Amino acid sequence: MIYFDNAATTAPLEEAISFYLKAIADFPGNPSSTHGLGRQADRQLEKARKDILETFGLAKTHSLIFNSGATEGNNLAIKGIAHFYKNRGTKLITSSVEHPSVTEAFKELEREGFEVTYLPVNEEGKVEPASLEKALDKDTILVSIMGVNNETGSINDLSALADLTHKFPKALFHSDLTQAIGKVKVPYSKLDLFTYSSHKIGGLRSDGALVYLSKIKFAPINDGGGQEFGFRSGTINVPAALTQAYVVKEAFKNYESNLKHVEEISKYLRQNLNIPSEIRFNSPLDASPYVLNFSLINKKASVVLEALSEREIYVSSVSACSSKGEPISGVLTAMHRSEGDARNSLRLSFSKRNTLEEAEAFVKAFKEVLEGVINR
Ligand code: PMP
Repeated sequence: MIYFDNAATTAPLEEAISFYLKAIADFPGNPSSTHGLGRQADRQLEKARKDILETFGLAKTHSLIFNSGATEGNNLAIKGIAHFYKNRGTKLITSSVEHPSVTEAFKELEREGFEVTYLPVNEEGKVEPASLEKALDKDTILVSIMGVNNETGSINDLSALADLTHKFPKALFHSDLTQAIGKVKVPYSKLDLFTYSSHKIGGLRSDGALVYLSKIKFAPINDGGGQEFGFRSGTINVPAALTQAYVVKEAFKNYESNLKHVEEISKYLRQNLNIPSEIRFNSPLDASPYVLNFSLINKKASVVLEALSEREIYVSSVSACSSKGEPISGVLTAMHRSEGDARNSLRLSFSKRNTLEEAEAFVKAFKEVLEGVINR
């Protein structure tokens, strides 16, 4: 089998699974309990928090809320900030190609009366800093722009976007870094808040964090026991938090070698899938090498995806999270691709565990599949 759908989810690292199982056995207490086992779990929780913040280089400035992943993190970051700081202003800015966990949070805030600007992207799927500059004003309280797009791998210039935001003292800059952590360079210290999920870097599913400048406050989404500084009630899974710290550190430690390896796979595929009569690439050349998106010119993406799946080759069409809705890519539409291209895109996404041999086998199988599928 060939698994090229790592942007949807990546299998946990074997070492992460052993690490997790050991931590479950070693630290059985609830970190909120005041007895010895509870205090032991709490010390481990704080160690995990500190380790992750240190890995990002943010131990002195930022705090971290453990949660169930980027969907929850994005909701708390966006709604929590908007609700807490609404007396400062009601203008919010995001981009037109965000993940649904960002876009839908903003839509909800719009229904509540906030004014939301959805910035366009250019043909490469990136937000132009000039368009953010035009949209910002003194009533803006939050800007949320993703680091790496999950469909195309397009990388935003977060440094420039954060600098522009910070010209307005009331405005905070948030970034959804789910596809960026450990995969591309990120100016972490310039971000007021960011979110991610552990399962995109070989960690556990339903686990992640929201990192934020320590002075920031949120209106909590859930009421409860007041865990995680009162912003995210619920008993924290300490073994999962420790495992998260493990995989974040691993992703940083192996950043260069992983990148080099994945770049090789991505370059090979770009060269060998370059069949101008059949394929148009959507990922720009400087996209994250972990994602390669292209449209099929003559074939239906859903049919090709199924034919590949029958050969145990797994890729994605549109994005996993929106594939149950309207099967047209909003991201490619925002990039001014034709309707045919936006309805017939495939995304290949890689992890360090993929190999060049898999890429070679993919090209061979893909060409056979294209020959066997009738034109749309
Ligand atoms: N943001 C982006 C960019 C993503 O790719 C994903 C996962 N597809 C999410 C947010 C949501 O992550 P999760 O499903 O782990 O909450």
